[in-house]
Amino acid sequence: MINLEPPGKLRFFINQAHQVAAEFVRPLSRKYDLAEHTYPKELDMLASMVDGFNESGRGQGAGAVGVRRGDNGDDTGVRNGTNLASVLSIMEMSWGDVGLLLSMPRQGLGNSAIASVADDEQLERFAGVWAGMAITEPGCGSDSAAIQTTAVLDGDDYVINGEKIFVTAGDRCDAVVVWASLDRSKGRAAIKSFVVEKGTPGMRVERLDRKLGIRASDTATISFEDCRVPKANLLGSPEIQSDQGFAGVMQTFDNTRPLVAAMAVGCARAALETTRDLLHEAGVDADYDRSPHVQAAAAAAYLAMEADWEAAYLLTLQAAWMADNGRPNSLQASMAKAKAARTANDITLRCVELTGSVGYSEHELLEKWARDSKILDIFEGTQQIQQLIVARRLLALTSAELR
Ligand SMILES: Cc1cc2nc3c(=O)[nH]c(=O)nc-3n(C[C@H](O)[C@H](O)[C@H](O)COP(=O)(O)OP(=O)(O)OC[C@H]3O[C@@H](n4cnc5c(N)ncnc54)[C@H](O)[C@@H]3O)c2cc1C
Repeated sequence: MINLEPPGKLRFFINQAHQVAAEFVRPLSRKYDLAEHTYPKELDMLASMVDGFNESGRGQGAGAVGVRRGDNGDDTGVRNGTNLASVLSIMEMSWGDVGLLLSMPRQGLGNSAIASVADDEQLERFAGVWAGMAITEPGCGSDSAAIQTTAVLDGDDYVINGEKIFVTAGDRCDAVVVWASLDRSKGRAAIKSFVVEKGTPGMRVERLDRKLGIRASDTATISFEDCRVPKANLLGSPEIQSDQGFAGVMQTFDNTRPLVAAMAVGCARAALETTRDLLHEAGVDADYDRSPHVQAAAAAAYLAMEADWEAAYLLTLQAAWMADNGRPNSLQASMAKAKAARTANDITLRCVELTGSVGYSEHELLEKWARDSKILDIFEGTQQIQQLIVARRLLALTSAELR
């Protein structure tokens, strides 16, 4: 029989993350939704706690770090279950608030990129650095192969020139992982990622964007003008291996997409639970022992949403479990993100619908979750892009054959 419960050894982490989300994160939700661009200073203390847990070895997967690929008991120093622990705790923290999770110091998507592709020396050097992720440019979003930013080797440095937009935590982070081309004539194989630390001359935060949701999280435009970074800051191999195409940098997505799927699962569960309580107050309770067709329309809708949520949850666990066990998971990572993000969009909006004016008002967080969840279907690859990747994998077609 298949056991679909999370492993018992991770229960402690799940409970711990849930407690933090309930007592610390959720109460700050509305405050920082209303005070866009205000730094949630309360998170500093929480981040220190997470650091403490990580250092003591008890904080496995406490945030968006630790998504390094490995298999059981190998010599990479990877603990079995790190990816699974990460997605499970992210689900809990996102149940608390996705925007605040994205604002957690040292838990950025750039940290996941570093954890995925850095060598041991870089891992040590960048330990404790809060890293954002800078791929998107004014002329390139979904088609990341169209990146215009360049990195030219000059002595012991790469000189970076270009502009990055929509960098999550771009203002607050200590460094950004920047995607740039070593040689634009060589196409996608020449795209590499570089850790650029804040304060490096030539790097400048130009502006912050106001947004529909995740307002607790800052989103920045950053320019690079003759910005010199040590060549030791290039993540992965500096070789341009045309046969490997995009593989080096794309590997990051296999690890970060399940994390975004986990955010969607957590946010959707928050909406489901609040809706269940509000429906209960209105005298509507779903009955799991009877067919939905003979129940109140709102109860039947609720049961359908829960079933959809369960599918998203299980796909997310599968993608993380595969990474933990050293199995290629590009297909499953995209399936999880496509399913979970769309499900979160559908569920949060439907919950607003089912709870009417209460759900639409600021008395509850339902309207906020409907706004917050939208980004989860956009960044780290949109819904359409995930579907494209899934189709390519299933049909064994290249990106040139199916675009
Ligand atoms: C709040 C926020 C935070 C972000 N954080 C980050 C970050 O930290 N780092 C970062 O690098 N980027 C970040 N982004 C950028 C995000 O990843 C991009 O917005 C996303 O990749 C889509 O790119 P685009 O906006 O240029 O849309 P486009 O690529 O122009 O797409 C527009 C529409 O066309 C669809 N489309 C595109 N190509 C195809 C195709 N081949 N087939 C079918 N449909 C297609 C897309 O799905 C989309 O619906 C963030 C964006 C936002 C809004």
